[in-house]
Amino acid sequence: MKKYVDSFLELIYPEKNTCFICDKYDEEIGERYICFNCERKIKKIVPPVCIKCSKPINYDKPTELCKECSADERYFEASKSLYAYEGVIKNAIYNYKYYNKPYFYKLFGSLIIDHIKEENYSDYDYILSVPLHRSKLLHRGYNQSELLAKYIANNLSIPYIDGLKRIKRTEKQSEHSKEERRKNLKDAFLVKTSSDKIINSSVLLVDDIYTTGSTVNECSKVLINYGVSKVYVITIAR
Ligand SMILES: [Zn+2]
Ligand SMILES: [Zn+2]
Repeated sequence: MKKYVDSFLELIYPEKNTCFICDKYDEEIGERYICFNCERKIKKIVPPVCIKCSKPINYDKPTELCKECSADERYFEASKSLYAYEGVIKNAIYNYKYYNKPYFYKLFGSLIIDHIKEENYSDYDYILSVPLHRSKLLHRGYNQSELLAKYIANNLSIPYIDGLKRIKRTEKQSEHSKEERRKNLKDAFLVKTSSDKIINSSVLLVDDIYTTGSTVNECSKVLINYGVSKVYVITIAR
């Protein structure tokens, strides 16, 4: 099945050396899937940021937490996001999720891998992804976070574990208040049976966007309750 999916994805890839974002052909693009011009337009998240969730903060105290992380319990050790969720990157993620462009995982995956290597953010034994509810997976045909996580796992030679399951259908989170999100997500996830390997280990949890952090926090909570020692998170944007 995997072979079939891979070759199917291969068929709908844009031509080699074509920018996924603007469709421009440029021989310099190669395995980066993005042209220099588009990359320049993406707003990177740079320090000072909250040490827990990478939210940009406007004071320069390296041990400082943002307002949200000071107020709420965070079950993850740290969450990193590469870009501000706006402009070019917001569009690209939207296309990735809603316009049937599963191959975008290559672009985002290679950007994340570069970031992980630059930041030495690699202190984990397994890689997991935030799951979609079965009905959403059937509708979309793929889980964008899973494609990303598998690509990263492959590249870093760290095992991918299909360890989480979403048992509750949740509405689109961005349309809800913080309190509603929390209620929505309560008991939404569980750890799949036969995931014992992850007990006492550190894991990296991959998702596409960090909005309030409720989703990755809820996943981290069930992982920690299951016996995982540490959860690290990475998302494309926030
Ligand atoms: Zn471009
Ligand atoms: Zn924070």
